[in-house]
Amino acid sequence: MTYPWLNEIEQQLSTSFAAGRFHHGQLFNGQQGVGKTALVEQLANALLCQQPNGVQPCGQCKSCQLNQAGTHPDKFNVVIEGQSIGVDDIRNVSHFMSHSAAQNGNKVVIIKDCHKMTTAASNALLKTLEEPSSQRFLLLTTNAASQLPATILSRCTKIDVEVGDVQEAKHWLASLQIIDYPWLRLFYQQPLLVQAWQLKEQLETIDHLYKFATELKQGHNFSSLVDIINKDNDLVRVFCLFLTEQLKQQLIAGMEFDAYQQAQNALNDFYQNCTQVLGLNLSLAVSKLAYSLRR
Ligand SMILES: [Zn+2]
Repeated sequence: MTYPWLNEIEQQLSTSFAAGRFHHGQLFNGQQGVGKTALVEQLANALLCQQPNGVQPCGQCKSCQLNQAGTHPDKFNVVIEGQSIGVDDIRNVSHFMSHSAAQNGNKVVIIKDCHKMTTAASNALLKTLEEPSSQRFLLLTTNAASQLPATILSRCTKIDVEVGDVQEAKHWLASLQIIDYPWLRLFYQQPLLVQAWQLKEQLETIDHLYKFATELKQGHNFSSLVDIINKDNDLVRVFCLFLTEQLKQQLIAGMEFDAYQQAQNALNDFYQNCTQVLGLNLSLAVSKLAYSLRR
């Protein structure tokens, strides 16, 4: 088992696996930090295992040992270098698929973040999806299925990966001693993201961001906020999420809808600038945002 909230999906996959209805192209769609990677890795290992129990690899056989060592010749992970997955990467996939298997007969390709494929890469992958050969499996993950071409979507089985019962994520996080943060509920769909923050010792930083978001309108000194974001640009998204949440609360509490929309627009501009403008003066951008939100 990977994570408790993935239990149900694993059960469904086991059933189709046992019935021999396992589709050759499977697309796992879900948010960052929900466990898609763990799920496809386990699935790949089970497809390669000589005596799997459902979608659980046995952990003992030659194939499992090769997988544990990360050297299984019948498993191929497409690694993204830079921003996109190019046509050459997908040609490598077709090449890999076309050769016979070294172990039990199955060959598995994992393409994570497959929405990052270029158009040429998608077209190349389409050929592989259209001409399935037996014992060849493609496991794709994405957090943006809507960005994928309809042609790709229509040839894969799409599986939505999400935390069905948030209590399971809550309990799991509590077992890691992650409790009591006022912002935690915003990430019950992304428990592994929170775990990653813990491993990077960033939980306090996230907590600071939350406090900044709560007090932004009153604040005048943003230097430590700027430091945090400068150190890790990914945290801009988290900060903006906190502010969006704040605005929603204010709207519920009676804020005028026009004012709400203006504030939300200012926030969107801030996010765009932070993620797209090179050499942005962050201090100035934060001050501007605080000024807009104050009005
Ligand atoms: Zn095994």
